[in-house]
Formats: sequence, structure tokens, C-alpha cells
Amino acid sequence: MAVAILSPEKAISRKGKLLINGEFVDALSGKEFETLNPSTGEVLAHVAEADKADVDRAVKAARTAFEEGPWSRMNARERGRLLLRLTQLVADHADELALIDTLDNGKPIRETTHVDVPLVIDCLGYYAGWADKIEGETIPVNGPFLNYTLKEPVGVVGQIIPWNFPLLMAAWKLGPALATGCTVVLKPAEQTPLSALRLGELILEAGFPEGVVNILPGFGPTAGAAIASHLDVDKVAFTGSTEVGRLIMEMAAKSNLKRVTLELGGKAPNIVMSDAIIDEAVKGAVTGIFLNQGEVCCAGSRLFVEDKVHDEVVSKLKAYAEGIKVGNPLDPATEMGAQVSEEQLDRILNYCQSGKAEGATVVTGGGRNTAAGKGYFMHPTIFSDVKDSMKIAREEIFGPVVSAIRFSEIGEAVQRGNRTNYGLSAAVWTRDIKKAHTIARKLRAGVVWINTYNTFDAASPFGGYKESGIGRELGKHALANYLETKSVWVALE
Ligand code: NAP
Ligand code: MG
Repeated sequence: MAVAILSPEKAISRKGKLLINGEFVDALSGKEFETLNPSTGEVLAHVAEADKADVDRAVKAARTAFEEGPWSRMNARERGRLLLRLTQLVADHADELALIDTLDNGKPIRETTHVDVPLVIDCLGYYAGWADKIEGETIPVNGPFLNYTLKEPVGVVGQIIPWNFPLLMAAWKLGPALATGCTVVLKPAEQTPLSALRLGELILEAGFPEGVVNILPGFGPTAGAAIASHLDVDKVAFTGSTEVGRLIMEMAAKSNLKRVTLELGGKAPNIVMSDAIIDEAVKGAVTGIFLNQGEVCCAGSRLFVEDKVHDEVVSKLKAYAEGIKVGNPLDPATEMGAQVSEEQLDRILNYCQSGKAEGATVVTGGGRNTAAGKGYFMHPTIFSDVKDSMKIAREEIFGPVVSAIRFSEIGEAVQRGNRTNYGLSAAVWTRDIKKAHTIARKLRAGVVWINTYNTFDAASPFGGYKESGIGRELGKHALANYLETKSVWVALE
């Protein structure tokens, strides 16, 4: 077990520096920032703080690696082998990586061990397999010509990721970028920089040439903005809030029209029909909102429940929520850890206040959980009597707070479920397969789950409709984010 063989001190003993051009270095400014353990509020490590000057250095290294270094001449199959070696190294260090994310983010060790890290391994291994299978086409054009396409890496890629699944978000970004032959400047979130830095060490150990992957912890408005507005970055991939996603697009537009993909927020409708297997639907609703302390962009935060089964579902959900073990994330029995920061906790508490003020009923929770520890713990929270117009039903809370909303007819539920600016995910619970598939078509979301929730696979695309994003992560779909298509003409006569 992770906790038994590794001490927290050992897992974070390496000083956090910037990875630029194959070396771990201090920021040019010499500045550092603190990353905290959210379950105690204590400082976990000091990390070098990148800003614009460091981004410039990293972009230069990535550009040189892309155009002149061994990476630029490497066979696709060899790229795949490097990714495979990295996958193996991550598997070899699974316990350590799980521990680092648990310490830095506050999420339970059972989740980092059984969800995050296995999904990272799955993702990197999946993209290792793609590296030598990216093919162009020959096209039957008019005239005496041979016409074919080349699929080429887009170039130097900036990647800006959030704190909710620190290592997994790095893997979702790096996997397709490296499989296609791009070079990368990655900025982890300020709250959770440590696992990306450890991954950086493993990337060097795997044998990736210098400058191919550069990792720059730092803050959004400085390091992040420098990446998004850099004139020599060909593409930016971002995961985080819709608000910042808008800024990223603006910066890309105003600088060099770099390609943009965005994976943003959500306010998913999770619809339970009266003919569902209720106990399964309730378990799905629990996973849907309480996994990862509710800090999940595809969380099922609006639970639409058909009138007939509403009270049964809400009371069973209450029993589950009150049985969730909240506390020390290092305890393998813990099911819900700490929210990532005091700021995030306050944001969630403000939403709880607003729900109460607007007349929703607190079924359980609704406040800070001081009994769980001195860190940023919440009580799993359920509101009922929630109206679509309430703030808690409209805005992304990003915490363990679910709004139960009644409906009487499925058409109405779908319509109300779709009435949001978001469109990342949705779910429906029913035993009627015709209805299930019909509803899946009507829901305006990039991912629809039928009789399941929060199910992921590296091969299956993930991303949003509407203001939940642009482009798709995972699967072969994510490769397109990192490729340009070149049409080549050859005269045959
Ligand atoms: P955020 O501000 O969108 O942060 C995501 C990433 O963007 C971080 O690396 C952040 O850097 C960076 N960033 C922030 N401002 C930037 C800027 N002006 N230019 C370039 N990069 C910038 O998210 P947050 O503040 O951590 O969380 C706020 C809310 O966002 C949450 O409550 C939740 O609703 C939503 N969220 C969604 C997701 C998702 O997966 N869709 C993930 C996280 C949060 P820093 O290191 O300085 O933060
Ligand atoms: Mg932290």
C-alpha cells in the first residue's frame, strides 16, 4: 500500500523546480511559491515560480527540440516506444504518484491509487500505441496528378491544466501531443504542481530528448497568460473554468491565432426516471457528485428525479451521503478528502448560503466539516426543492453539492436539463432502452451516460458542447488537436 511503504516526506522531498530543456532549474526571477496540503492547510513544498521570462526560455527549448533536435528526426515508432517506457515508469512509481497527488490536492488515497493513476497509465499506454498509426491519405484528384496528405505535428504546444486531477490532466494533454510529435510547455495549476514535476523526472528517465517536454509551475495571469499569448506557440490546450477559457481564446486570437482547444466547466443533468433500477441510480448519483469531493467538471450536479420516485431517491441519497467517510485523505478508508483550497471551500460555502437564501431545502450537509480535520473539508450536501432559476441550479459549484430537482414528464426533464450554457456531460437512468437512446440523442452534451456515471476510457472522446469547450480529449479525436494536414501535389505528366 502506498501509505505503508512511502512517507509523505519522501514523496515530496525533491525541491520543486522548473523543467526547461531537460534540466530542473530555478525561475529566472528566483521567485518561489508554496503549495499546501489541503487536508491540513500546512505548507507541503516550495516550488519555483515561472513567469514570462521562463516561458520564453521554455518555448525556445521546445522550438529547438521541434525543429532541430533528435525528436524532429525520430521515427514515429521510436516515439511510441518512449511513451511506452514512460507508461511503464509511471506504473513502477504508481504508489508514489498517488501519494503526491493525495498530499497536494487533498483527494483520498483510494481514489488516486484506484482511479487517477490507473487512468494515467491507461492514457499514456493508449497514446503510445497511436504514435506509428497516424496516417495520411491518397486522394483521387482530377488531372495527371498524385495528391496525398501528410499528417504533421502542429509544433510547439502550450498546455494549461487545473488542479482537480493533477496527474491525469497532464497525461490527457501530454499523451496525444507526444504521440503526434509535438513539443510541449505545460503549466500545472498553482495548487498542485508536484505530480507534474515528478512526471517530468520520469519523462527524462524514459529518454525523451531535452526540450520535448518543459514543465513550468506558476500562476495563471503570469505564466499561463505568457503561454497563451506567446507568438511562437502554435497551439494552446486548456482545461479549467469557462471564464479563463474565454481569456485563453482571446489571447490566442490577439497574438498569432494559435490553435485552441478548451475543456471547460459543466452543470450536468443526471436524470432519473421512475422505471430505473432505483438503487443503481442512487449509487450513480453518489459517484456522480461526490467523487473527487465534487471537484469534477462533468459532475452530476443537477439531479432531475421523476415525481413518483423523487422522495425515495432523495432519502436513499441522503443515507449514502451521510455514510460517506470524510477525513484524512491518507487513510485508505477515507472516501471524501479535503477541497483543494480555502478559496474553493469558501466558494462552495457561498453557494450553499445562496441555496438556502433562495429557498432550497437542505436535505443534508450544507456546511464545513470541522470534525473531519482542520483542512478544507465539506459535508456531502444535498439540496431539494431546487428551482431551475436558483443560482445553485445554474452555476458550476465544483464541490460536493447536488441539487435534486423534480420533474413529471421526460420531455420536460430533457428540455430543462439542456437549458444551460454548459454541455459537457449528462446521464439518464431508465430500464426502457428505446427511451434511453432517444434521450441520449436529445441531450446537448459531449458525453452521455446511460445507467452509469463518471465512466471513462482513454479510447473514448471527452469534451463539451456549447460553453463547455472546443474539441475533444482522449481517443483518436484528441490526435486531431495536435495535427496539421498538408496536401501534397505531384505532377505525373
Ligand atoms: P482556472 O482559473 O480556470 O484555472 C485553470 C488553469 O488556468 C490553472 O492552471 C490556472 O493557473 C490557469 N489560469 C488562470 N488564469 C489564467 C490566465 N489569465 N491565463 C492563463 N491561464 C490562467 O480555475 P480555478 O480558479 O482553479 O477554479 C475556478 C473554477 O473553475 C472552479 O470553481 C471550477 O468551477 C472551474 N474549474 C473547472 C475545471 C474543469 O476541469 N473544467 C477544473 C478546475 C476548475 P493558476 O495556477 O494560477 O490557478
Ligand atoms: Mg497543494
